[in-house]
Amino acid sequence: MKKILIAIDGYAACGKSTLAKQLASHLHYLFLDTGAMYRAVTLYLLDNNINWVNNKLLNDVLDSISITFQRNENGKIHCLLNGDDVEEEIRSMHVSNKVSEVAAVSAVRKFLVQQQQIIGKEKGIVMDGRDIGTVVFPHAELKLFVTADMDTRVQRRLLELQSNDIQVSEEDIRNNLIKRDHEETTRADSPLFKAADAIVIDNTNLTPAEQFQIALNLAEKIIGA
Ligand code: C5P
Repeated sequence: MKKILIAIDGYAACGKSTLAKQLASHLHYLFLDTGAMYRAVTLYLLDNNINWVNNKLLNDVLDSISITFQRNENGKIHCLLNGDDVEEEIRSMHVSNKVSEVAAVSAVRKFLVQQQQIIGKEKGIVMDGRDIGTVVFPHAELKLFVTADMDTRVQRRLLELQSNDIQVSEEDIRNNLIKRDHEETTRADSPLFKAADAIVIDNTNLTPAEQFQIALNLAEKIIGA
C-alpha cells in the first residue's frame, strides 16, 4: 500500500497530537511530535542557563543536544534529551512559558527542521506541529489544520495536565495559550498559518473518535485503501 506523509498543524492544545497518534497507530505509521523537540531544546537551554537571544555560540550548544523518542512499557512515547527521559519536565509550565520564544529563533528551527526532514524522508509518518505543511514538508500528501475554540482548548489542556498530576490554574493556561498563539502567528521565521492546500478540522464539537474518522477517511482516499 502507498505510504504517505501526513502533516498536522494548528494552535496549541487543539488535539493535534491525539489525532496524530491515532492515525499513526491505525496506519502503522511513525508518529513524530515536533513540539516535544522544541520543548526539549527549551528545557536544555533553561537548565543550562543559556541565553538564546543573539547568542553567537548557539549553534555549538545545539550540536550538543540529542533528541530521541522511546516507547515506554505502557506504550506511551517519551522524549529523551541526551538519553534522559524528560517527557514530564517538557510539559511543565516552566517550559511552556518559554518554548515559543525559543521556537522563534531561526538557528533552533533550522536545527530541528533538518532532523524532522530526515525522519520523514521514508514517508509512512504522521508529524504534528506548526510548520509541517508549510515548511518541513510542503509537499505532504495530506495536510490537516486543526482548530478548536479557546474555552475548549483551555479545558482540554487543564484535564491533560491534571491527569499527569501537574497543578495549574485555568487562568495560567488561558494566558499561556493566548501568548503562544500570538508569538507563533507573528514570528518572522515559519509563522503558524494554514497551508493553502490544508484541510481544516474544527474539533470544538467533535469527539476524538469523530475527528479521527474524518481524518482517516481523508487519508484512506489518498492511500487508496
Ligand atoms: O505542540 P506543542 O504545544 O507541544 O509545541 C510546543 C511549542 O513548540 C509551540 O508552542 C511552538 O512554539 C513550537 N513549535 C513550533 N513548530 C513546530 C512545533 C512546535 O514552533 N513544528
